Amino acid sequence: MKYEAPETIDQAIDIYSKFNGSKKILAGGTDVLVQLRTDIVRPEMVMNIKKINSLHEFCIVDGYWKIGAAVSASKITKNTAFISEWPGIAEGVGLIGSTQIQNRATLVGNLSNASPAADGIPALVAANAKVEIVGQQGSRVKDVYSLIEGPGKLHLSKDEFITHILIPLQRDRSADCYLRFIPRTEMDIAVVGCGVNLSVKNQSISSAKIVLGAVGPKVIFADEAAELVLNSRLDKDVILKLQRMCEEIATPISDKRGSIRFRRQVAGVLAKRALQKAYARALEVS
Ligand SMILES: Cc1cc2nc3c(=O)[nH]c(=O)nc-3n(C[C@H](O)[C@H](O)[C@H](O)COP(=O)(O)OP(=O)(O)OC[C@H]3O[C@@H](n4cnc5c(N)ncnc54)[C@H](O)[C@@H]3O)c2cc1C
Repeated sequence: MKYEAPETIDQAIDIYSKFNGSKKILAGGTDVLVQLRTDIVRPEMVMNIKKINSLHEFCIVDGYWKIGAAVSASKITKNTAFISEWPGIAEGVGLIGSTQIQNRATLVGNLSNASPAADGIPALVAANAKVEIVGQQGSRVKDVYSLIEGPGKLHLSKDEFITHILIPLQRDRSADCYLRFIPRTEMDIAVVGCGVNLSVKNQSISSAKIVLGAVGPKVIFADEAAELVLNSRLDKDVILKLQRMCEEIATPISDKRGSIRFRRQVAGVLAKRALQKAYARALEVS
């Protein structure tokens, strides 16, 4: 297996696009190395992107939080300005593995691995985040939701890779939240996850996005439920209906960690709780 470690994006584009065999990008390696050791993937070339300085940037540019593909989860969860604006995205990132894993793992790696249960994805989708992609033909921007094709698959061509995640600055009187359910207290994969991003006006919800994770091949927008909560203050009736809608929209599999019926029920409960938490946060900043 060939190993490459370019120091600039241009070098990386050159190496990656010219290599015609099977290849993998190596960011933190917390998914890739496990997959290599268990023979799930057998690339002929691995390209480490952690040596590219510009992929370590984490700053605000042109109305977006720009997070480089080499930025570790720990760096994200320690950025107080980012956390106060996007607590839900930070919650998702903060749930990935352990302290050791978070010192290596990246949010771009979490997204690119495209696990239906990835903790980083639902809140990113609820925030309408995008990614910057580069390849031989130049660069392009794509929203996170449409980037994901299905489990382990992204809509990227063979020569392309992601350089940055772009998260819009949070709007006024708005907040997000991410919650997940796991059977253990730590170090487990989400049985269900839910990201919510909403805004309030005169104490009522003026816009909302509800995104369910781990209950379908990719994240699911609970659009009808999000519409239902508009102009409400989350009274009992609305909450009950929202819960039922999220149960119905979920299309989970059944496995040793949860049956279809159980996962559907948890989807409703988590959507309710994430919405209530995001609403309380938005009221606090109003
Ligand atoms: C013990 C343990 C616990 C874990 N717990 C969790 C958890 O609780 N929640 C969770 O969601 N995940 C968990 N994970 C999975 C993993 O840690 C995360 O998905 C992590 O964010 C992956 O990031 P990485 O930088 O290590 O990715 P890598 O392993 O480097 O890469 C992951 C995939 O993305 C591709 N890739 C990476 N960067 C790019 C790029 N720039 N452009 C295109 N493709 C790219 C790689 O080729 C690979 O296919 C856990 C893993 C371990 C080992």
